[in-house]
Amino acid sequence: MTIVLTPPPEPKEVDLTETYDAIVVGSGAAGGMAAHVLTSHGLKVLLLEAGKKINVEAELRSMQWPYDHPRRGDAPPGWHALSLNEYNIRKPPYAAKNSAYKHVWSYVGGWGGSDYVKDILVDEKENPYTGTNYAWVRARLLGGKTNIWGRLALRLSDYDFKAKTHDGYGEDWPISYSDIEPYYDRVDTYLGISGFKEGLPHLPDSLFQRSHRLNASEIQLRKALLPMGRVATPYRAGVTTDGVKNKYRSKCFGRGACGRRPGGCDIHAAFDSPTGLIYPAMDTGNLTLRTNSTAYEITVDKNTGKASGVAFVDSQTHKALEAKAKVVIVAASTLESARLLLLSKSSQHPNGIGNSSNHVGHNFCEHLMGPGVTGLVKELVGKEHGNEDGRPGGFYVPRFRNLKDKQPGFLRGYGFEGSGGKSMFPDSTDRPGFGKAYKKEVRDYAGAFINMGGFGEVLPRYENAVSIDPNVKDAWGIPVLKFDYTFGDNEKKMAEDMATTAKEMFEAAGIEIIGVDRELLTPGWSIHELGTSRMGNDPKTSVLNQFQQSHDVKNLFVVDGSSHVNASCQNPTWTIMALAWRSCDHLADELKKGNL
Ligand SMILES: Cc1cc2nc3c(=O)[nH]c(=O)nc-3n(C[C@H](O)[C@H](O)[C@H](O)COP(=O)(O)OP(=O)(O)OC[C@H]3O[C@@H](n4cnc5c(N)ncnc54)[C@H](O)[C@@H]3O)c2cc1C
Ligand code: SF4
Repeated sequence: MTIVLTPPPEPKEVDLTETYDAIVVGSGAAGGMAAHVLTSHGLKVLLLEAGKKINVEAELRSMQWPYDHPRRGDAPPGWHALSLNEYNIRKPPYAAKNSAYKHVWSYVGGWGGSDYVKDILVDEKENPYTGTNYAWVRARLLGGKTNIWGRLALRLSDYDFKAKTHDGYGEDWPISYSDIEPYYDRVDTYLGISGFKEGLPHLPDSLFQRSHRLNASEIQLRKALLPMGRVATPYRAGVTTDGVKNKYRSKCFGRGACGRRPGGCDIHAAFDSPTGLIYPAMDTGNLTLRTNSTAYEITVDKNTGKASGVAFVDSQTHKALEAKAKVVIVAASTLESARLLLLSKSSQHPNGIGNSSNHVGHNFCEHLMGPGVTGLVKELVGKEHGNEDGRPGGFYVPRFRNLKDKQPGFLRGYGFEGSGGKSMFPDSTDRPGFGKAYKKEVRDYAGAFINMGGFGEVLPRYENAVSIDPNVKDAWGIPVLKFDYTFGDNEKKMAEDMATTAKEMFEAAGIEIIGVDRELLTPGWSIHELGTSRMGNDPKTSVLNQFQQSHDVKNLFVVDGSSHVNASCQNPTWTIMALAWRSCDHLADELKKGNL
């Protein structure tokens, strides 16, 4: 049975003499959405992606059992994933050019199953960065990080968009929930999302398809949290469980190594940008895709100061090339987009394009991680196992701090992601013993563990920033990013509270505590970078307007997480796509009216 169709072929040659209506840089969640929306408006779009297109189904092998793989899923010798210690003790760049390892990855390559992502994560040797400690996870290929994202798909609310009004810190967004709600609805309908309605004002419900079920330990936690005014809701997953109108995607059959991290879905029930957005856009006949194209400068019309196109280097031949367009849309992910804007210096834009405010690269924010809890549900030890893998996630505990209450030590809030039960990789390696008795022990305990870890809002601060390091270049000769980013007192106080409440919730559910994590992980661990070109109404203190359009250069848009005014504590991808959809609708209108 054919479940998914073969993608449309890429053109062998791309016409670089043509002036396209729009060039989109980057093909992840943001760039894919821009390509989808603009081509559906009939615009001729060139999509430039730095990475290659891989046979992603063959890479992911979602149905492969650990014992079917020669190294239980591990990568071949010579591959090295950075450890927490390396990130904390050393300073970037973390991988020397002459490193003894053939390839070096970010920490994500160190999770069990690294062989399934060895062509997805970037090689740190080719892509260095400098400055303060930062665990930067990058995926350079068609679809970017969406090929392996965790799929927790959450909405923001006015607690986030109007956070300054609520607690006085930072800036409000130039939009409200009511502005973006119709676009969240469109993303839900077009891409599919599974989940369960809870009616929470701070975590608005989506237009959910069938939810997966909580398992026994998760239900135990949910019951205990309700009297505390907290919720453990089934993981809201960017996965189509009932199906969507898209011939490149199947609905979820609840099979496969969905719980394997890192990993993706080889039948594309889980959203990824190529099958969800880019292939359908190619089918319109309006999208030209060029992979292996690393943008290093947004070119400028000397007379008008407007963007005229994009200069890029062919990642394989290292040849410098240029493409022209009426509008340029940057969607290279928060940090790479900042890098591209800052690299694009000209006499009209001496600080980098769109940077008259000196805010590009600043107010960089994300989610802190580290605090969490692991527990054992004793009643489940030795019980028969159910079919507990084959679901995109376990549960989510939404924010409960600083909503109606006011915490003495910190502003804003955090949520927890967690799961209980058994997966393809039994979570029982710390059991004692050996031989037959050990195997029994592992089997008996495999389904009885439950854990959860927090994601907390890091406050945006102007001094948390990235800039260009002119002294270090990547493998293509492009100057790299320098980080100047640290956690402040608010983050530290929040982390303490996270550990305390995580433990308190498991105790309330009668779950035996096995361990409480209190330490913060290295900045960057959440892979939710945001805020380097924030939106706002004032061109002196913001880079983009409410449509992610540059205040300085009206035919330049930055449609990824760069534009977020604060990080909130909800995972950002669904918001990135809803905002990009809204902005690209506006862009298409303005272009047709001749306003760009
Ligand atoms: C393991 C993992 C788990 C995650 N879990 C979740 C989750 O549960 N929920 C959630 O909301 N988010 C999650 N995320 C984050 C999510 O993947 C990102 O928010 C999302 O992919 C951002 O989309 P983007 O388009 O901005 O960036 P990306 O998806 O990174 O895409 C950017 C693209 O631009 C390309 N590019 C970069 N520089 C250039 C250049 N100079 N020229 C041309 N192209 C360029 C890159 O190659 C890439 O393809 C997770 C990420 C990872 C890695
Ligand atoms: S459980 Fe569903 S989403 Fe996960 S890998 Fe299987 S089909 Fe894909």
